[in-house]
Amino acid sequence: MTGVYDAVVVGSGPNGLAAAVELARNGRRVAVLEAEDTIGGGTRSAEITLPGFVHDLGSAIHPLGYASPFFGQLPLEEHGLEWVHPQAPLAHPFDDGTAVVLERSIPATADSLGPDAGTYRRLMEPLAADTGRIAGLFVGRLRLPRHPVALAAAGVRSLLSARGQAEALFEGERARGLFAGNAGHSFLPLEKPPSALFGLLLGTLGHAFGWPFPKGGSQKIADALASYLVSLGGEIYTDSRVGSVEDVPRTRAVLFDVTPRQLLGIAGEHFTERYRSGLKRYRYGPGVFKVDFALDGPVPWEAEDCKRAGTVHLGGTLEDVAAGESAVSLGEHPERPFVLLAQQSLFDPTRAPEGKHTVWAYCHVPNGSEVDMTERIEAQIERFAPGFRERILAKSAVGPADLERGNANLVGGDINGGYMDLRQLFTRPMPRLNPYSTPAKGLYICSSSAPPGGGVHGMSGYLAARAALRYMT
Ligand SMILES: Cc1cc2nc3c(=O)[nH]c(=O)nc-3n(C[C@H](O)[C@H](O)[C@H](O)COP(=O)(O)OP(=O)(O)OC[C@H]3O[C@@H](n4cnc5c(N)ncnc54)[C@H](O)[C@@H]3O)c2cc1C
Repeated sequence: MTGVYDAVVVGSGPNGLAAAVELARNGRRVAVLEAEDTIGGGTRSAEITLPGFVHDLGSAIHPLGYASPFFGQLPLEEHGLEWVHPQAPLAHPFDDGTAVVLERSIPATADSLGPDAGTYRRLMEPLAADTGRIAGLFVGRLRLPRHPVALAAAGVRSLLSARGQAEALFEGERARGLFAGNAGHSFLPLEKPPSALFGLLLGTLGHAFGWPFPKGGSQKIADALASYLVSLGGEIYTDSRVGSVEDVPRTRAVLFDVTPRQLLGIAGEHFTERYRSGLKRYRYGPGVFKVDFALDGPVPWEAEDCKRAGTVHLGGTLEDVAAGESAVSLGEHPERPFVLLAQQSLFDPTRAPEGKHTVWAYCHVPNGSEVDMTERIEAQIERFAPGFRERILAKSAVGPADLERGNANLVGGDINGGYMDLRQLFTRPMPRLNPYSTPAKGLYICSSSAPPGGGVHGMSGYLAARAALRYMT
């Protein structure tokens, strides 16, 4: 490291890199210290099964990254990021051999929802029209919504439970199942608010922006941010774990891309007792168990429509998805877990040798679980794609402990930096006027443990950097 900095960022996840970029593009001298030997945190890729098969170690599908109003301001394409849009964002198969497809087009999606076609259009059309405007608010781009009444109604709905909303809005299993799968991304039981928020948000983003992924692997997001940062004069140091504030070189501000548990260990003595006990009370959510497959061919889906989608949700009906998620929240391991699957190589030939394919799949498990879910994940894929197992050339499975070993932020396998229920989604890491600042002057939290929470969007990093810039001027 080469001297005195205006700001040091601890951790090179998408939020850490976003924070560093925002500081550097405002003329600040910035260094990023990363504990691991590669940058990217939750957005990294590597050949972990066989040579030539590129797997995403963390994030795979990026509606949030593509729609991020901060990333949208950056020249990431000039730094190697190329988005791939699969033909359809998402498919949700059922046991009768058919699937509902979340298409980019709202009418095309609605057409396959039978009795719920009209309701789906009335729900989604105003939301999709206003999504970009709402996202713009995060970066101070104020534009009046086109459909304020529909938006307000959706705002109220999103604070409710997914199950309640799916049952109140839709009559048929197809629309209810589609909504349940999206809501499953909340890691909440579907009976718990605000799980409906995820059902609405992810569906809307699919229509308004798509669910794309980076050509060549999610690592490209981190690499593009890092390359842009370096072009602005920023410095990045890997293999540089920070154990205490004293490990940080001289600087005016430190932004921590870590979760409350680590922040306590690194900087706890600098905080007030009240802030410390708030951090201690911070709650983590369920973990994930993930399997990456190298395949001899594409997944043999029974429902042809699944072959057009980048992401496939495996859980069947609302009842089935809800039962799986509820079991996890009770500390159990469901026999038929809700599985989130991505098949990037169908649309991105750089991911696997010619004719071969990759599959990324995970299910939720209780935080810190030590149960091997590989069999159950495979059985769920077989349920909708008979013959899948015969296509497996190699696989790599990781549970919560392995995930945390590779990235200390994944506490007990929680990939969102903390539980995202009503109490903790908007006021993470704890209720404060500015959630990114801490009681210690010049120390900030910039990870997904601060609003808006989990996902590769860089917004927590950007907003924390704005807070630090205000302090520095
Ligand atoms: C299996 C999995 C699947 C996911 N799928 C998706 C998806 O499809 N789409 C999506 O949008 N999001 C997904 N996510 C979530 C997403 O990856 C995270 O929300 C996001 O990466 C959070 O970014 P962050 O910068 O806050 O933290 P992280 O990305 O976790 O980065 C934190 C960084 O800080 C470093 N660090 C920690 N402690 C220290 C220390 N003491 N000193 C120095 N460095 C330290 C870590 O090594 C890490 O590099 C997934 C995550 C996982 C793990």
